[in-house]
Amino acid sequence: DSSKYTMVEPPAGYAGEGFFATKLSDVVGLARANSLWPLPFATSCCGIEFMATMASHYDVARFGSERMSFSPRQADMLLVMGTIAKKMAPILRQVYEQMSEPKWVIAVGACASSGGVFDTYSVLQGIDKVIPVDVYVPGCPPRPEQILDGIMKLQEIVKNESVRRRSSDEYKDLLGSYNIK
Ligand code: SF4
Repeated sequence: DSSKYTMVEPPAGYAGEGFFATKLSDVVGLARANSLWPLPFATSCCGIEFMATMASHYDVARFGSERMSFSPRQADMLLVMGTIAKKMAPILRQVYEQMSEPKWVIAVGACASSGGVFDTYSVLQGIDKVIPVDVYVPGCPPRPEQILDGIMKLQEIVKNESVRRRSSDEYKDLLGSYNIK
């Protein structure tokens, strides 16, 4: 029964322009992708490149990510930069778990991605042994442009994933399987 509905006149200047429709997931994805607040977990040299990345020359504010958080509870994007000793792995895991959902992880540089040159008994051979990783940035160290590229790749993931993002619970057994004391 069309008599139940009221016709709404378009705002001035929009007459004849039609209308714009989108999906809720696209709007949420756009908002999330452009407001990723970084939590830097920097242990060595890659962290220095991150400091350069966050300075004015590279202008991370263009991506809505200039607001660094040093509280896991107020961060969306964990950036792990540097060598992670096995003894540090449970702490990294704890920091990750303290972040609220939705949350994403970038492994910045060779050490965080795979242990890098430190193929030794005391170094974690990639942070994906203990936490889920969304983007890996190669390099020893990566240039700031590469770190920005990693953030942009993460933005694409965030824009296109479901509003009901995967639960990080799927990864709960990672730490157990790695047998970290
Ligand atoms: Fe340092 Fe290279 Fe490891 Fe980065 S990847 S923390 S630059 S040794």
